[in-house]
Amino acid sequence: MLDMVLPPRALDDGAARPAVQSHGLSAEAWMKIAFIDAPLCDGCGAPFEYDPGPHAVCAACSARAHAYDRARAACLYDEHARDLILKLKHADRTDLAGLFAHWIARAAADILPEQDAIVPVPLHPLRLLSRRYNQAAEIARPLAHLTGLAYFADPVIRARRTASQGGKSADGRKRNVAGVFAVPRAWRARVKDKRLLLIDDVLTTGATVEGCARALKAAGAARVDVAVIARVKVGPSRTI
Ligand SMILES: [Zn+2]
Repeated sequence: MLDMVLPPRALDDGAARPAVQSHGLSAEAWMKIAFIDAPLCDGCGAPFEYDPGPHAVCAACSARAHAYDRARAACLYDEHARDLILKLKHADRTDLAGLFAHWIARAAADILPEQDAIVPVPLHPLRLLSRRYNQAAEIARPLAHLTGLAYFADPVIRARRTASQGGKSADGRKRNVAGVFAVPRAWRARVKDKRLLLIDDVLTTGATVEGCARALKAAGAARVDVAVIARVKVGPSRTI
């Protein structure tokens, strides 16, 4: 019943199936999520307030190149998205992972055909022990299943433990993850010349995905794109 009263935006691309995009959520919770639709920055996936035409990038992307190629996010990171993502992270709601995989598949529909494999952002093994699962991997696995792409479980690892990124400035986050990520020798031949889609839950400053992308490209990956559940809305939507 609830799936029948979903807002029409769930249907706007024709292929979207609201039943799978809302599974496990109340209609109320679903309607509070600020899904990101075109037009958006072709670089970082930030939404534009007006349509600057195809392949336009935002001011931030034109000012500075990212280590990754393109990023896409299903929704804005606000209090509603945060509540849902925290449920996946800390409340053992791994059933939400399948839902998020569907959201990401829709948000990254334009870049998915160009991928060879799906890669989760890694958790440090010690943090994995305390949390028991890596939420990025929980989303990446069903996404690989959904899209028929290969799933690369751990081609990029954390070579050392970092403090939580929470509460840190952009510079602090960057310093926190500098030199942290590495591609194990056993994975180098497999990532070489591959187009990889890196999955994380939230994109804030991008320091974590930048670190992963840098390590994967240093190991020979042809492209590294990024897809997340939610991203922060960045500053002015000035375009070039
Ligand atoms: Zn951008």
